[in-house]
Amino acid sequence: MRVDLNVEQGMPLDSYRLEAVLPTIKLLLKNKVRVVLLSHRGRPDVRDKKQAARDKDALSLLPFAPIFAKKLQTPVAFIEVARLGALKKAVEKSVDHLVLVENLRFFKGEDTNDPSFARELAKCGDFYVNDAFAVSHRANASVCAITKYLPSYAGLLMEKELKNLGDIIDYTKHPFTLIIGGAKISDKVGVIQNFWSAGRREADDVLVGGGPANTFLRAEGMNVIDSLVDGAALPLIKPYLNSKKVHLPSDLKWDKTAILDIGPKTVKEYAAVIKRSRVVVWNGPMGWFERKEFGNGTKGIWKAVLANKKAKVIIGGGETVASLQLVNRGITRTERGMTQKRFRDGLRDIRVGRRIWISTGGGAMLDYLSGKKLPGIESLK
Ligand code: ADP
Ligand code: MG
Repeated sequence: MRVDLNVEQGMPLDSYRLEAVLPTIKLLLKNKVRVVLLSHRGRPDVRDKKQAARDKDALSLLPFAPIFAKKLQTPVAFIEVARLGALKKAVEKSVDHLVLVENLRFFKGEDTNDPSFARELAKCGDFYVNDAFAVSHRANASVCAITKYLPSYAGLLMEKELKNLGDIIDYTKHPFTLIIGGAKISDKVGVIQNFWSAGRREADDVLVGGGPANTFLRAEGMNVIDSLVDGAALPLIKPYLNSKKVHLPSDLKWDKTAILDIGPKTVKEYAAVIKRSRVVVWNGPMGWFERKEFGNGTKGIWKAVLANKKAKVIIGGGETVASLQLVNRGITRTERGMTQKRFRDGLRDIRVGRRIWISTGGGAMLDYLSGKKLPGIESLK
């Protein structure tokens, strides 16, 4: 079973991504199926020996074994082999029903979608389950090539992701608001394009913050000095300049020569748009929220999104989801049935009161909402 344990730097290991795959594992264990968990973590260097040794410590999946053991109340065998050829034997030798294999990217072959690598992985099981939506936009061996060697299925999380994201694409109600922030607009412009003039699923408003806002402002001729700008994207955003649909910040928060957040007036304007929305799709923080003084824009968006009880909301992106910590307090009162602790511990229940879907995908969500075919999902067909 492929899962995604690729937790963002600095996030707790028992994050929502880990939490999100527990239902599928539970279902399999309940049915007396032995589960071998496969995942990657980060981008370990497999060429430079010294760097590889450092990565080995920092990017090992070992710390996840006790977390799974505790959450599932079952012993977990952790398997680390020097050669992938030894994996099958090691899995067979272990007695536990739940097995976690060390970071697949410690080997060459995973991120090149190498068929012989995939075949070695496939030898460890009778069936393959992909519950790693968040890596399904990557043609990796444990996501794509492996499906050639085993009967292959989507896991419960994958199913929920496709249902929730697919609903947005297929049955969009209006007003439909797209919120785009974060670092690089070039990663996200595909989503704007896909919802730009698609008839039924056309976005009515695009609220822009973060690096993308800087890039738009720069394209419109503003001197943004040292602000984060995605220069390569300037030609890509041309079709969306000077459109009534696109909302740019009317005030900004600067730190000396760089724009690091949207201003309070903009928060009010954006919140008013969110308030009248029936569908909201959000990726990317409005500013450098990791610094407290530049978190108000992102916090304001969270508040507006949570206060709108009518809208169907899709939120994704590693940092975007991490920024939920900004409003931990506010949620307890606004979201029925969810306790503050459950949120602080990393989104125990990724579906907040049914109407908000917190996707485990960052790049995968963006690709899916851009209308692209995801290699990992195509491979399951
Ligand atoms: P996500 O992971 O949610 O998809 P991104 O990776 O695109 O989001 O970008 C998140 C990062 O962008 C955050 O770490 C945030 O600090 C940064 N960021 C947002 N706005 C700015 C800004 N104006 N200047 C510098 N960094 C910004
Ligand atoms: Mg990110």
